[in-house]
Amino acid sequence: MEPVIVKRADHCISRKNISSAAVKVLYHLKDSGYKAYLVGGGVRDLLLKRNPKDFDVVTNATPEQIRKLFRNCRLVGRRFRLAHVLFRGETIETSTFRAPVPDEADEAYSEHIFSTGESGMVTRDNIFGTPEQDALRRDFTINALFYNIADFSVIDYAGGLNDLKEGIIRVIGDPDKRFAEDPVRMIRAARFAGMLGFKIESSAYDSICRNKELLTHASPSRMYDEVQKLFFCGNANEVFGWLERSDLLHPMFHDFSHWIDEDRARHDWVTHTLEQMDRWRKAGLQVHPSLLFALIFGEYHEFLAAQLEADGVSAHDACKLAVQQHLRAMCENVRVPKLVIYQVSDIMGNQIRFQRTKGARPQRFLHSEGFLDAFLYFKFSSKSHGRNAELLDYWTEQNDSLKHKPHYK
Ligand code: ATP
Ligand code: MG
Repeated sequence: MEPVIVKRADHCISRKNISSAAVKVLYHLKDSGYKAYLVGGGVRDLLLKRNPKDFDVVTNATPEQIRKLFRNCRLVGRRFRLAHVLFRGETIETSTFRAPVPDEADEAYSEHIFSTGESGMVTRDNIFGTPEQDALRRDFTINALFYNIADFSVIDYAGGLNDLKEGIIRVIGDPDKRFAEDPVRMIRAARFAGMLGFKIESSAYDSICRNKELLTHASPSRMYDEVQKLFFCGNANEVFGWLERSDLLHPMFHDFSHWIDEDRARHDWVTHTLEQMDRWRKAGLQVHPSLLFALIFGEYHEFLAAQLEADGVSAHDACKLAVQQHLRAMCENVRVPKLVIYQVSDIMGNQIRFQRTKGARPQRFLHSEGFLDAFLYFKFSSKSHGRNAELLDYWTEQNDSLKHKPHYK
């Protein structure tokens, strides 16, 4: 199929908005005789006049050829080799054009790419392909645009330019098939819709509603990466709305979503928390994952802890235990790293220490490693519920006296 090619004068991408590292990679490849395109979220965001998070490059150079061109280059990936070209503070992921996934029946490809082969998921690795094949194996039309450094044109094989204009998240190919290949694409659809204020095209949306349970088969570590992106994208509240409407929340966070469904006030707490996340994000602050999980699941963890306390567990232990039991169970779908589980349980377990303001203990707590995160949770929770006003003044003063190194930038 012939792509739509939009010339330099007819789109808004300016080289100035591409990171100098990406420009260097693109030019070095082009000057060495290879095709070199910017691709994915970078192109999409430049066309939407948003700040791209990162820049990815595709080329017809093979990983070995890329390695020879760049001294600061590492080949990664056991299955599909791709190059990370490293610059100070930035890594440009540079991959060779990929062909679509070979037929499942083709025994020549035995390695696994996204997950093990249940439910029609992709299990075979990929081989090098043409630019068109590379574009069409991507998830959504708006993520399949190329920016060609040779003539500064935008190349569109999938109809992404029109969908960008119309504000549509459209799956490339048959949604049922593409979501079965890789169920994580369903939550990516919710993320892009929420993040960009777009609509999910109706056949894709219906397919998500039909296939949502496939998410329980997705790789838990990929789910963890994508879950963070959902809530750190700056429009977490809108994303959450899409997850709720399409009912993706159930297969992602099974027990938690049932708990939310029982009471509107619980839903409102999560929304309120996500609004705060978005405000922090807009202010340029970066919350780390343990505080994110502590905040989102905070009320649920307090609820679980109260049950444990009623069974005779001490308040401090109940808080920690509640977090650990819930997050460990969640690991079946979303693999939260052990360190993060430990930090979340610390944040919750430490809440009781804010009640104590006499003697040497407050000072010990103030100087302990987990204080700042626990304090941020305490502050947010106290203000949201309109409680602990005096304690909050006391601890705010103590905290101000410390001149903490901020935990978030
Ligand atoms: P962000 O702004 O969050 O980085 P992105 O679109 O760049 O968004 P990435 O996860 O960085 O998302 O992926 C880069 C590109 O790789 C995507 O734009 C898309 O073309 C392709 N891609 C990523 N994940 C998938 C997937 N699961 N299936 C198909 N293509 C994918
Ligand atoms: Mg990206």
